[in-house]
Amino acid sequence: MNISELFYSIQGEGILAGVPSVFIRTNFCNLRCAWCDTPYTSWQPEGRELSLDDICAYVEEHSRGHVVLTGGEPLIAPDAPALTQRLRELNQHITIETAATVAPAGLACDLMSLSPKLSNSTPHTRDAGRFALQHERLRLNYDAMKSLAALCDYQLKFVIASPDDLPEIQALAAALAAPRHRVLLMPEGTTREALAERAPWVSELCKEHGYRYCPRLHVDLYGNRRGV
Ligand code: SF4
Repeated sequence: MNISELFYSIQGEGILAGVPSVFIRTNFCNLRCAWCDTPYTSWQPEGRELSLDDICAYVEEHSRGHVVLTGGEPLIAPDAPALTQRLRELNQHITIETAATVAPAGLACDLMSLSPKLSNSTPHTRDAGRFALQHERLRLNYDAMKSLAALCDYQLKFVIASPDDLPEIQALAAALAAPRHRVLLMPEGTTREALAERAPWVSELCKEHGYRYCPRLHVDLYGNRRGV
């Protein structure tokens, strides 16, 4: 399996923020978000091949019970279902962080963290816009979202860059019939300064609409670094 990073840290986002977790970050993504915070899995992918045995050995050595499968887009990895089944055999709580553009069969999961990408993600100018059309075509797959949400507990996490993003968020939440407490708004930004600047209006939107504010705790704790 092509892996970008394997590390033990604190979950920074979502309803399990603060929980020590092993992160398995797969390489490669079918999207190209303009503001991607892991460009080393998408725009300039870097990775190495690891066997499922290698990955599971790392999990057994480091995990205290929670594993996060993330990316890139982990669900385009052919071995993703097999890996999740192996993690299940190790009695791990499994979170899958996905943009929900594909829904392979055979996944084991406890928390599906769906993060459909809004139009603010489309790279109209980055790299001369050469990925914009593909990104637009792939970024929303309602069938995949519904199928993943039906597998287990889920959260619907949105990267919000402006209050103008709200109608898209409301439309997606309605399409999935998601209760408000499952809808998380996370300010776009990879630095403490950017997050602090957006936190006030994002938190006000959460209060107004009953959505959940989503911190990026790892940025507060460690800064925007890899492997944390
Ligand atoms: S879906 Fe995630 S990994 Fe892929 S381009 Fe967007 S932010 Fe980056």
